[in-house]
Amino acid sequence: MTAVDIGEQLKALVELQALDKQIYDLQRRRQAKPPQIEQLKAAHQAQTQRVKDAEAQLKALQVKRGSMDGDLAAKEAHVKKLQMQLYQVKTNKEYTAMQREIEGAKADNSVLEEEILKVMEQIDQQKAAIAGVAESLKSDEAAMRAAVAAVEQEMAVLDTAIAGLQAQRQASAPRVEAKVLARYERILEKKEGVGLVAVDPRLEACGGCHMNVPPQTINEIRLKERLIACESCARLLYYPEDVIA
Ligand SMILES: [Zn+2]
Repeated sequence: MTAVDIGEQLKALVELQALDKQIYDLQRRRQAKPPQIEQLKAAHQAQTQRVKDAEAQLKALQVKRGSMDGDLAAKEAHVKKLQMQLYQVKTNKEYTAMQREIEGAKADNSVLEEEILKVMEQIDQQKAAIAGVAESLKSDEAAMRAAVAAVEQEMAVLDTAIAGLQAQRQASAPRVEAKVLARYERILEKKEGVGLVAVDPRLEACGGCHMNVPPQTINEIRLKERLIACESCARLLYYPEDVIA
């Protein structure tokens, strides 16, 4: 069994950690991008839905107006029919009764005409509202597409940067002994992309969790006989001046 040179391992790990931190940070930024795109699309979708709802309301008003028009036409025909019958009645009493019926029907029709005018006004208002929103919807869609394209462009830039760093990492990783690498990578995964940190020589503290590192532990780290982990955060520790020449 060949002895592992801890000093060399730490040097290799420091290089690897520098890459891994960058990869981790870029991946975090990359992960935030698809939700941003979803959000942009959802906001536009909601706007589109509002236009659709307004169009459905317009359609309902138009249907209502159509049925009111039909209603009015039938009632007007009825008035005409009564007016024809008026000339055929025999008695004054009948004549008066029919005339009263005609007047009543005409009054009903004017009420209906008023209602139709109101619906027509609502239709005009609804059309104007839709035209306004549809116009802004067009510019909104263009803005949304541009924003999505910008985020996609950012994603592509990040992907390229991550791929480049990963290639560098693949070249560097074999310098670390397999067991050491596995241990480091386990910590890396659990500790936000930081598996190896320097001890702060002045504060005698872990560079990751900032908890105190006892002098005895610092001595052990500097001996480089084995890998030493922080007792608080479990990250591997190194003493800066011993590793970075
Ligand atoms: Zn720590």
